[in-house]
Amino acid sequence: MSEKMKFSQLSIPPEMVSNFDTLKYHFMTPVQQEVIPHALEGRDLLVQAKTGSGKTAAFGTGILCNLDEKLWRVQALILCPTRELADQVTKEMRKIARYKDNIKILSLCGGLPIYLQELSLSHQAHIVVGTPGRVEKLLRNGSLSLRELTMFVLDEADRMLDAGFIDSITSILVQAPENCQKMMFSATFPDSVKDLAHTYLKKAKEVSVDLLHNEGEIVHKFYSVKKEKKLAALSSLLKSLNPERAIVFCNTKVQCDAVADFLSENSFSVFAIHGDVEQRERTEVMIRLANHSMSILVATDVAARGIDIKDLEVVINFDMPFESEVYVHRSGRTARAGKSGAVYSFLTQNESFRIEKLNTLMSESFVTEDFEISDGDNEDKKPVTASMVTISINGGRKSKVSPGHILGALTGENGLQATDVGKIDCLDLYSYIAIRKEVAIRAEKILRNNPIKGKRFTVRVHV
Ligand code: ADP
Ligand code: MG
Repeated sequence: MSEKMKFSQLSIPPEMVSNFDTLKYHFMTPVQQEVIPHALEGRDLLVQAKTGSGKTAAFGTGILCNLDEKLWRVQALILCPTRELADQVTKEMRKIARYKDNIKILSLCGGLPIYLQELSLSHQAHIVVGTPGRVEKLLRNGSLSLRELTMFVLDEADRMLDAGFIDSITSILVQAPENCQKMMFSATFPDSVKDLAHTYLKKAKEVSVDLLHNEGEIVHKFYSVKKEKKLAALSSLLKSLNPERAIVFCNTKVQCDAVADFLSENSFSVFAIHGDVEQRERTEVMIRLANHSMSILVATDVAARGIDIKDLEVVINFDMPFESEVYVHRSGRTARAGKSGAVYSFLTQNESFRIEKLNTLMSESFVTEDFEISDGDNEDKKPVTASMVTISINGGRKSKVSPGHILGALTGENGLQATDVGKIDCLDLYSYIAIRKEVAIRAEKILRNNPIKGKRFTVRVHV
């Protein structure tokens, strides 16, 4: 991964840098790093970047630096697909513009009385953020003029075209002066977006960042979740991720039990370990994770320490760790052996400072996102359950029991198919057998009724 860059490395006013510092933007996001230098130069840009990547400050920095604040005319127009998105952009623009006095940013969206917007426009503004329909209307009735426009941004272009705004956008674009800088941002590039870019952008610098993560790379996501919503959020997250194997970290034993109970009640295949877990139980956890008879492990840091589990698809910090170093350590449970992985963390309101510490330690610029509990979307999705069940017998190598003997007993006359049987681990005193869930009861019976190496063992099904 490329080096993190600070805003101070850009040729922007120092007051702007210190404002970014106040906002706790210590490092540029990858989009900002790629986009800002070209935006400052006044180049046309075609940028592919996903939501939450910091696009607003990317084009916003260019706009604010190239604006003539003494000229009370609309010099920058930012079009967004919805009023909510326009409001977000307006808020973010006002935040990053705080270092300048007297910059007027207007939001012009549908659903609000047009006469108030006309009144605001009559007092002039430097930057307009709006939705295409309303902007077009205000242009048509003469309240808004683009004669002095030098910068134009089309935010979330793909969504804009999906919403059928192409005619409005075109009619707005043709009113912009010939040499106006145009910047287009989009998460995806369907033909409609390419066509629009082809028609209106000149010698555009194409940038695409943050799209996929590379092998071995870890994606970190931070969700702000209310304390009382954490369990619901966890269940929703697990259903939408549907990981084969995941570890959920809690900070206390009590929390561990509460989380595991909740997940079990909601039919997840889950196991909790904490504090004084004995060696045998640790071994069983490892065996069950490895043989696919358990998908979610809920653990404290202490309990997880003694367990060699790695290359898990997903690590979830149900509780954000108190120390940043612990975060790094927990994250190391995923993305081993060149595989990629993901770490999801829940932060309650008074924990948001932890992300700053983490950013400092890891030279990152992680931000928190709101977590949307999407039960509706996942209602028909089954909770994460393992495909196998582990059955153990109290006989192993010391009783001269081998995987072959066990497989033989299970698949003998009227027995199971070999494909019903998964991994078999023979330890000194115990053997653990993974069996396809559907035939677990039959397997248990067979093992109870059939001696192995002339001996009957105690059979236990691990649920
Ligand atoms: P996008 O438009 O790409 O979805 P936004 O511009 O809305 O993303 O930014 C997403 C979030 O990241 C916002 O909360 C914003 O305040 C924050 N943010 C933007 N740039 C940085 C940065 N360099 N460091 C930390 N946080 C940032
Ligand atoms: Mg945005």
